[in-house]
Amino acid sequence: MPRVSAPLQRPALLPWLLRYCGSLGCSLCALRTGRSGDSVDASYPRSLPHPRPSLAPPPGLRVVRGSLRQRRVRDCPWEAHPPLPAAPLLSSMSALEWYAHKSLGDGIFWIQERFYESGNRANIWLVRGSEQDVVIDTGLGLRSLPEYLYSSGLLQDSGAKEDAGRRPLLAVATHVHFDHSGGLYQFDQVAVHRAEAEALARGDNFETVTWLSDSEVVRAPSPGWRARQFRVQAVQPTLILQDGDVINLGDRQLTVMHMPGHSRGSICLHDKDRKVLFSGDVVYDGSLIDWLPYSRISDYVGTCERLIELVDSGLVEKVLPGHFNTFGAERLFRLASNYISKAGICHKVSTFAMRSLASLALRVTNSRTSP
Ligand SMILES: [Zn+2]
Ligand SMILES: [Zn+2]
Repeated sequence: MPRVSAPLQRPALLPWLLRYCGSLGCSLCALRTGRSGDSVDASYPRSLPHPRPSLAPPPGLRVVRGSLRQRRVRDCPWEAHPPLPAAPLLSSMSALEWYAHKSLGDGIFWIQERFYESGNRANIWLVRGSEQDVVIDTGLGLRSLPEYLYSSGLLQDSGAKEDAGRRPLLAVATHVHFDHSGGLYQFDQVAVHRAEAEALARGDNFETVTWLSDSEVVRAPSPGWRARQFRVQAVQPTLILQDGDVINLGDRQLTVMHMPGHSRGSICLHDKDRKVLFSGDVVYDGSLIDWLPYSRISDYVGTCERLIELVDSGLVEKVLPGHFNTFGAERLFRLASNYISKAGICHKVSTFAMRSLASLALRVTNSRTSP
């Protein structure tokens, strides 16, 4: 009988760092504050460095466990998929096979990469407007996301040659980390916050924290594909964003909120009218990561204060995050306030050590994989 994939730890990136370093800071903070130093759920055992977020595949996505190359995705109610051959791929997987999507209604679609089975698998959001459509984050980019959008019918193709006759489509990166930015090169129109525009333009795989293993990609997108080949490709942004900018889709507006802390150019997109927040990695229902090379705790605290203000002002009812499932205002408030309460000196010390080690590991890895 098929089993739902076992929950994975969110920090697939350098898990050993979190196991051996993260627990120290959390335990110290717990002593200081008299409660769990962790940010999400105090019911988790103290021995766990971080709580286990709900990393099971989104509701209904069932995965058969098996040997690495034989896992099969079945019974996915998101969208019907073409059957996959049981034998190893003899040709490249199609975009239709690689992605799955689900409609949330009101012109919003939730897209995922089916065979990237990792805590780093990012949510991809398609938001349709009356005059322009927006893709928020693009995943790894191992198969063509634009091709999927058109061939699955999520976006209308007029049938005209090439791109003629298609409505404008803008790809917005909530930040440049590899799990969100890898597919940006497939789009003609690309927007990113100005703090990370240069890194994207030069394909800086240190700042994109590129970290991908063969074991996370449970079906190779093409014969002979290996994770070590993966790089975030350099992309020249066509639109540089800053706080307060408004992306006009016609019948809906997305306001850019610069929310640094996780990375220096992290943004949220806020649909004020519908009280929906696309939060990227600024906040999701799991342990927030503030130990990467361009993370900054003081910025993250300010960002969380801003999130709390949004909740207090009644401006957010639904959060569509960069990872895991969607959640509401109450959860947003808890996640943000818990981060602020844990961001004391103990946390800063342990995070400093983790950031140093992570930076070293990323330097080594990305020099090794440089072309
Ligand atoms: Zn990130
Ligand atoms: Zn991410």
